[in-house]
Amino acid sequence: MELLGQMMNTPMLLSSILEQAARHSADVEIVSRRVEGDIHRYTYRDCHARSMQLAQALIASGIDAGDRIGTLAWNGYRHMELYYGASGIGAVCHTINPRLFPEQIVFIVNHARDRFVFFDASFLPLVEQIAALCPHVEKWIMLCDETALPRDGAVPLASYETLIAPAADGFAWPRFSEDRAALLCYTSGTTGEPKGVLYSHRSITLMCYGSALPDSLALSAIETISPVVPMFHVNAWGIPFSATLVGAKLVLPGAKLDGESLATLFEEEGVTMSAGVPTVWLGFVDYMRRVGRTSTTFRRAVVGGAACPPHLAGALREVGVQAVHAWGMTELSPLGTVCSPSRGYAAKSEAARAAIDIKQGRAVPGIDLKIVGGDGAELPWDGTSAGDLMARGHWVAERYFGRDESPLVDGWFPTGDVATIDPDGYMHITDRSKDVIKSGGEWISSIELENIAMSHPEIAKAACIACAHPKWDERPLIVAVRREGSAVDVRQLLDFYAGKVAKWCIPDDVVFVDDLPLTATGKLQKMALRQRFGRHFTA
Ligand code: AMP
Repeated sequence: MELLGQMMNTPMLLSSILEQAARHSADVEIVSRRVEGDIHRYTYRDCHARSMQLAQALIASGIDAGDRIGTLAWNGYRHMELYYGASGIGAVCHTINPRLFPEQIVFIVNHARDRFVFFDASFLPLVEQIAALCPHVEKWIMLCDETALPRDGAVPLASYETLIAPAADGFAWPRFSEDRAALLCYTSGTTGEPKGVLYSHRSITLMCYGSALPDSLALSAIETISPVVPMFHVNAWGIPFSATLVGAKLVLPGAKLDGESLATLFEEEGVTMSAGVPTVWLGFVDYMRRVGRTSTTFRRAVVGGAACPPHLAGALREVGVQAVHAWGMTELSPLGTVCSPSRGYAAKSEAARAAIDIKQGRAVPGIDLKIVGGDGAELPWDGTSAGDLMARGHWVAERYFGRDESPLVDGWFPTGDVATIDPDGYMHITDRSKDVIKSGGEWISSIELENIAMSHPEIAKAACIACAHPKWDERPLIVAVRREGSAVDVRQLLDFYAGKVAKWCIPDDVVFVDDLPLTATGKLQKMALRQRFGRHFTA
């Protein structure tokens, strides 16, 4: 007969994470820079109380378990309350990326069937543009008090503060299965329609435990953590939950993510660690260099969402910040790997350690990885064989919201990334499978080539794309932005590759542009570049 363990079976609910913080880290601060421009501060105790007020208001407004609540908001305390208040009653907090095209936002709101949408005042023009196209939305609620509501607007609006005001004492979070849906986030959908990933209370909680570990993001109560990555980009990589879990001080930066605004906020609030995409850190470093400052409290920047260019890690070090490279994706909640030292790392030569530091890192406990060749067979972990990266684990999506078919292959999620894994388990992304350059039957890493271009002192930004080629099928083209005042030319940049990659991998040409297109999550929009320059060698 099956013998069951005899331990308490308390479901892993997100409300329990906040309840724990309200009891055990009650006076620890959550500081927010509001879109209104001022600084708001309160504690985990206050956040818990107001999240319960919101929960009661949602129930009183007829929101049922499983209903979707949309948000169009920056990182701030009211957004935190929506994370906890909606999920805490068994509803789903659906974070919408406001940087998407309005048509994509309309698609997402309608596909998710959001009943209410909560939004920051700065998104009012967007709401006015899309409201008539979203017939399922019953209420548009602005994150403000009654006095800040616009009069005579085209869309009937409610105020958040008025909605949550009438709550009574004595509310207790409902208990339900940890497998219930808690948050919903759509992939940025650079190809095809955006796809929704529906996280459960269990999957998010387990990812938070995984991400707090010393070999992961090493979160603790003594840190002051500022997630620069937006709360609409894969739940700010889980930080609003994981920081709460460990009782760290949280600093939510709102809408101003330029180098100066971040540096000032970090300094004023004593931020010790943060997380964001490389573009954010490039802006930060540029500002610190311009004003000749080094960081005082800010020590660790998690860099993810796109490859950390090697020169960025060095530039951050110069201003007193250690880059911690991490990899993940919406379907992985998002944390998959973190580049932290393994046993034996310290004994390696400086060059060997530097080669490791640029990799995406080792799988976070709870996540398993493998690389496979074209025939689906697993490839060796030798650090050189590159194959399609597959993942599985406690916080990996099994299917997409509202779709029956599962993307899994033999129980593994195909990430769409191409990677190597070395004998110590360090995974290194060499490309997106759709970006890799297939030249004469060999694969060339577009990331490696753009990293080299970006390490040229006169290049500000660079992208490498595959262009159709009459002889080799595809050849690499660099699309680059010069630094201000630079006149670096094609020959000089191509000569810069000599000795850095095999001769046949050196790009065939360079085109200089004023700027590079970015996706809604701040990544290079290579598809747009391929559309524009894809026939460079054949036209
Ligand atoms: P998203 O779902 O929008 O977060 O995009 C996930 C994709 O971003 C991954 O599949 C990778 O292609 C890319 N990505 C995320 N982190 C990294 C990283 N550290 N290095 C290289 N690519 C990354």
